[in-house]
Amino acid sequence: MTKSTFKSGYLDVKTPMPGLNDLEGESVPELFEHVIDTHVHIFPDVFFRAVWKWFDRYGWPIRYKLTTTQIFNFLFSKGVEHVVAFQYAHKPGMASYLNNYMVEIIEQFNKTDNFRGRITGMATVFPGEDGAVDILKKAFHQGLKGVKLHVHVQCFDLISNDMDAIYKLCTNYGLPMVIHAGREPKSPAYSCDPYQLCSAYKVEEIIRSYPMLKLCVPHLGMDEFDEYKSMIERYDNLWLDTAMALTDYLPIGHILDIGVMRSDRIMYGSDFPNIPYSWDRELKALAALNLPDENIKKICWENAKELFSIQF
Ligand SMILES: [Zn+2]
Repeated sequence: MTKSTFKSGYLDVKTPMPGLNDLEGESVPELFEHVIDTHVHIFPDVFFRAVWKWFDRYGWPIRYKLTTTQIFNFLFSKGVEHVVAFQYAHKPGMASYLNNYMVEIIEQFNKTDNFRGRITGMATVFPGEDGAVDILKKAFHQGLKGVKLHVHVQCFDLISNDMDAIYKLCTNYGLPMVIHAGREPKSPAYSCDPYQLCSAYKVEEIIRSYPMLKLCVPHLGMDEFDEYKSMIERYDNLWLDTAMALTDYLPIGHILDIGVMRSDRIMYGSDFPNIPYSWDRELKALAALNLPDENIKKICWENAKELFSIQF
């Protein structure tokens, strides 16, 4: 099967993908001295219920229908040392509420000795909404460490005046952006076409225009893997996370060899809890790649420590 088979998108609007009943590990594989999960979703309960409903209908059955507090407790109990947490505002007017929620949750965990300083919270904004820049400035001053955006859900143009304002702001603050700017996993249930809005070419334009901006694209750039592999070799301001790209679940059409990719620009991320398989499937897949220790260190914690300025 070639990649072109999937140009219409990995997800079918009529039939969700199946859940896997693969075994769960008790803890992170011993091979990994530390693990930072750079791709974890949290939401207030009412938002999570809507997200679960959407995934169950159009994507895949979410195996871990946990609340925000349960998500952090679950991952920490398994030995994940630090979590980078995201939310996304799917319409204007919600971002401040979600950012405050993130700040409060982090404060709550910071009160306990075991969990202090173990969550990096990213801010959200709806690109183009009134006061977008001020919403983000406030979030940064409240302690959030960058911005997470999702083109498929938020349907915005990566190359636009609205986005320029956000790229400039993050550059000025020295804070990273994580943007789901890859075309997959595309669902026809989105209100825009990710193939129209997303391309490696557009991302290259951003990182060329803003050489001091630190940008991470999740899912190894799914599905333009070769283009993103080549871009991290050529640019120092682009990172990729592994979320759902190594787990042999989505119809990628070929096995990805991250051993031949620039290892100081790739970070482990799980997409927990919005996954249809065991929480540690991606970690097991990483372990099975038999990468040199040096690469494992970088992918599992060192690169994330550097990009998100995490201390431990
Ligand atoms: Zn995600």
